[in-house]
Amino acid sequence: MQGLSIKSISRHFGAVRALDNVSLDVAAGEFVALVGPSGCGKSTLMRIVAGIETADAGSLSIGSRDVTALRAAERNVAMVFQNYALYPHLTVSDNIAVPLAMRRLSAVERFPLFGRVMPGLAQKRAAIAIDVLKAAQSLGLDALLDRKPGQLSGGQRQRVALARAIVRHPDAFLMDEPLSNLDAALRVQTRREIVEIHRRVGAATLYVTHDQSEALTMADRVAVMQAGQILQVSSPEAIYHDPQDIRVATFIGSPRINLISAEADAAGHVHIAGRPSGLHAAPGPVTIAIRPENLRLASSGITCVAEGFEFLGDSLLLHARHMASDEALVVRLPPNMPRPHAGEAIQLTFEAEHALLFDQNGKRVALRNHPAHSQELTLA
Ligand code: ATP
Repeated sequence: MQGLSIKSISRHFGAVRALDNVSLDVAAGEFVALVGPSGCGKSTLMRIVAGIETADAGSLSIGSRDVTALRAAERNVAMVFQNYALYPHLTVSDNIAVPLAMRRLSAVERFPLFGRVMPGLAQKRAAIAIDVLKAAQSLGLDALLDRKPGQLSGGQRQRVALARAIVRHPDAFLMDEPLSNLDAALRVQTRREIVEIHRRVGAATLYVTHDQSEALTMADRVAVMQAGQILQVSSPEAIYHDPQDIRVATFIGSPRINLISAEADAAGHVHIAGRPSGLHAAPGPVTIAIRPENLRLASSGITCVAEGFEFLGDSLLLHARHMASDEALVVRLPPNMPRPHAGEAIQLTFEAEHALLFDQNGKRVALRNHPAHSQELTLA
């Protein structure tokens, strides 16, 4: 098994910096999800790794091979796109066979009429048919081999595209939003299938999505990208609980993480709207970020006005507004809580260990609270 190593890749389109010195390693057998908003450069990076787009600078290696200068066909990388890219006039079986035919047969052997009379060709075709059947069986497609793509559902088409990708045992898999054309239920089912295929095949996989739940549920590590740069690469848990950049904190998590402006005085006491919070940090302005599930109603705390509710079945979202700063806050509550009335004044609090602090540049700063003091904040 081979790893994939992207080193300092940059790419400009005129004045647009699509990729700005991007480096990313995908270990052998690892599944890395690349997630970021539209236009952040995800597809450009994938296209460069696949060899269908060139970089202005940087290099790419697969295992010990430097593939930067190699053509797409020479890289042994399989790519699955959101639009499947199946040949509509070929059967499922022939679609899956395409990469094997391209690799194992000469141009003349691929020609249907000449092909029949060439020595050794029947064996080559039989070997291809066996590999196609194995790939199709592993994806539950064996009953559909004679159909054309137009006679398949979206999920089945995507499975054909996956079968075509795994049939040639690539060193690395690239998947660019492969589930985005599927409906919600099928997306959840197919993402489990993709993870399962990855486990079986074991090739280094780079998976692009703008859907954070896909990234968090499927990947070994998640790379968060914005404006042509990778901001953080971590385990899904660390991306969620331990973001190092405020752009990562706000991109990951739904509803969005709450942001509260604050200031640490010369002694390091963090004040929210001029009132001591009980938090400690290096002096200067800070933003306190707290996930909705880590805020709760209390008898004293940050004074807010309740604005409304959203019932989500398993929880209740309380929308509130911080009176002093006018910042909007969202609290995730148990679903059967007694609800404050809209317009009512409420107090919100949180535990120090759940507060993430960021400096003015959006970089994470350390909380200086002593663990013994970090259980409960008075926010008085
Ligand atoms: P999406 O999620 O919408 O597919 P993305 O993260 O994949 O977005 P890219 O398609 O990689 O983003 O585009 C990155 C930036 O480069 C965008 O600003 C885009 O407009 C620009 N860009 C991409 N390809 C070209 C091109 N061929 N010519 C000019 N600009 C381009």
